[in-house]
Amino acid sequence: MNLYKWLFLLYNNDMVRTRFAPSPTGYMHLGNARTGIFSYLFARHQNGTFVLRIEDTDRERSTKEFEDSIIEDLKWLGIEWDEFYRQSERFDIYKEYAKKLIDSGHAYYCFCKEEDIEKQREEAYAQGKAYRYPGTCRHLSKEDVENRLKSGESYVIRFKVPDGQIVSFEDMIRGNISINVDDFGDFVIVRSDGSPVYNFVVVIDDALMKITHVIRGEDHISNTPKQILIYEALGFKPPEFAHLPVILGEDRTKLSKRHGGVSVRFYKENGYCPEALFNYLCLLGWSSEKVGKEVISKEEAIKYFDIKDINLSPAVFSHDKLYWLNGVYIREILPEERLLEDLLPFLEKAYGKVDIEYLKKIVKATRKEYNTYLEAVKKLRPFFEEREPDEAAKEELSKIDRKVFELLKQEIESLEELTPENLKGVVKNIQKSTGLKPKDIWHALRIALTGSLEGIAIDVIASILPKEEVLKRLSRYT
Ligand code: GLU
Repeated sequence: MNLYKWLFLLYNNDMVRTRFAPSPTGYMHLGNARTGIFSYLFARHQNGTFVLRIEDTDRERSTKEFEDSIIEDLKWLGIEWDEFYRQSERFDIYKEYAKKLIDSGHAYYCFCKEEDIEKQREEAYAQGKAYRYPGTCRHLSKEDVENRLKSGESYVIRFKVPDGQIVSFEDMIRGNISINVDDFGDFVIVRSDGSPVYNFVVVIDDALMKITHVIRGEDHISNTPKQILIYEALGFKPPEFAHLPVILGEDRTKLSKRHGGVSVRFYKENGYCPEALFNYLCLLGWSSEKVGKEVISKEEAIKYFDIKDINLSPAVFSHDKLYWLNGVYIREILPEERLLEDLLPFLEKAYGKVDIEYLKKIVKATRKEYNTYLEAVKKLRPFFEEREPDEAAKEELSKIDRKVFELLKQEIESLEELTPENLKGVVKNIQKSTGLKPKDIWHALRIALTGSLEGIAIDVIASILPKEEVLKRLSRYT
């Protein structure tokens, strides 16, 4: 690295700071993973800093297991972070800022009973109106508040939304967004159990962590004005915002469990490789025309990523396309070592201990045959397991002259080595001596070795299976 580049990095390193802020309330959804990827690419493209922040303030719904799974899945996807925070460890900080807001008159204690609020909400609902807290506790006297706090009355803390204000911001993807905050009513920032709510803590964290660009899903657009009000009340400068378009299923409704597997975990467990999933998620909403191709490595994505190239229209998730792309990675892109490493646990789960040298031979000859590792497990079965003939094979078997199995055994026994070439010779010899058609001889060999009429080319299977195993399987039919 030359001196200028080094100096550039030194000065600019912390200029851009983005964060990914998942809530550990479930496995990571593909939409969240895409948000994480885009925040990551945005930071890396500019030699910035990428922060991972676990948003676990919702104590009832957050679990350590889901946090672990999110961290594991991010690592699996190849998204590495520079700083890590957990909101549940920062409650003292939030308390301090809630107090600041109260002291400066931007927030207040509210002693309204939950039942009363519920009643008001139902009334508003019955009248077809959106509920808005009427500000009952906004003007309580200082003494009143102190007495009620002293007597241990339960309370929430509400943010005082200024009357008649319109909050505007420039979204990096959508341009100007203006929202009238009058309708919000004074919203809760600390719950009655003392836990702070998302719209409050997210501001404290983004400000204290010096986040420069907040990139998140469009479902958060309506939260942004609330957050901007809190930034202003605390005298913090708001970051830039980019709200990513939603991801839809192929029926054009929001991608959800109804569409089948929608978590990163699902694809991991179903035999997808992380590079392909990363690549596919990049294509959801980012028009990579500048890259000029759809098969993009992480390094290329970092190099070309530009938030200006995000499409405003929703991205449509296509399972078929991801399946195709995964096949491309298995066939053409993953180094053999990686493919072996990825396949091994899937195969061992199905068939027990697998010899790595044996697997190497198999993978070399078959990697064009499957699009996922689970599919590989199914297709590679003959290499690991002997099978009873299935119905179609049984029917075929009834038409085959059984002596062909004995002949195959004899011919193969006499071979030094089993190769596709040698096997062709075997079939030719048997054809000559018996007059059987080559097709039937191959069929017989396939049934004996695999129990099925379909699958990976039989000469490939027969030449990789150990010779003793081939002979053993043939013996069942002699
Ligand atoms: N924890 C929030 C979520 O998972 C993060 C939203 C944000 O990025 O501000 O939706």
